[in-house]
Amino acid sequence: MLSSNKKLMTLLLILIIVSSVCIPSYASAKYTIQQGDSLFSISNKYNTNIPTLVKLNKIKNPDMIYSGSTLEMPDTINKNSTKNSNTYSSNDWLPGDKIVNTPNKDKKTKKIYRKANTNTMQIALTFDDGPDKLYTPKILKILKKYNVKATFFLLGKQVQKYPQVTKQIINEGHAIGNHTWSHPDLTKLNEEEIKEEILATEKEIKEITDRTTNLIRPPYGTTSDKLLDQLKEMNYKVIHWSIDSLDWNSNNKEEILNRVLSKLKPGSVILFHSSIGKNKSLTPTVQALPHIIKELKKRNIKLVTVNKLLSLAAYKA
Ligand SMILES: [Zn+2]
Repeated sequence: MLSSNKKLMTLLLILIIVSSVCIPSYASAKYTIQQGDSLFSISNKYNTNIPTLVKLNKIKNPDMIYSGSTLEMPDTINKNSTKNSNTYSSNDWLPGDKIVNTPNKDKKTKKIYRKANTNTMQIALTFDDGPDKLYTPKILKILKKYNVKATFFLLGKQVQKYPQVTKQIINEGHAIGNHTWSHPDLTKLNEEEIKEEILATEKEIKEITDRTTNLIRPPYGTTSDKLLDQLKEMNYKVIHWSIDSLDWNSNNKEEILNRVLSKLKPGSVILFHSSIGKNKSLTPTVQALPHIIKELKKRNIKLVTVNKLLSLAAYKA
């Protein structure tokens, strides 16, 4: 009896040793979010992608991830085998505006605008990274058809390339904001470089539209206390969003509609894009847009420019 028990124990021990060696561990590494990180940069580092991180960590709102908190990272076994859907060539400046680094949430003086009160019956659609000659005109056509106004956060280098589309945005009653010249992560640049990115864009916009923007949206939504101080000193209002459509990373309009419609509420600022790198498409954005506008109209929610929603000036006097 005793000896059979001993045999059983030995067998069990062997099993435990074998299984710990052979069976992969699926909940593996943890990552502590650093200042300047974005879901994009983290997913690149771990050779994974944003949707995987969002799912694994049950992230409800990718805008609200704070430095210092930990993320569960996907199984290391897949680390080098899965194709990284967030890999872009150096010519593609658009890995989408994937957040995450919001500064210390206790420092309320460093204001980032994300949404308005829910008692307003208004919503703002915002489109980043344009203008271009492909998607921006299509988006403008839809906005015109439904007679709604939106906000475009423009890249200086795109404004320089497409001055006519830039003029059209203004002429059709939409607002524009500064989204830097070349879409860098501003938290990685020094003060002088940040100034250059913003002011070169400002100069280009001024030449074409005779306006100086008051609103800025830092690329990827990355900010730091230092950056916010500098932007404040430069007299900009920093605009983020409360609903990320993740349109740049969507396969079809249903994905966008599911993501956006479920979160819609008065006061929301919704993030879309109006230009994207060569190998990606914004057709789902263009297709989803009429549905979103119609749904908002049905709910009696007015679509306004983001400055109007937030009671800010769009341009400097
Ligand atoms: Zn952008």
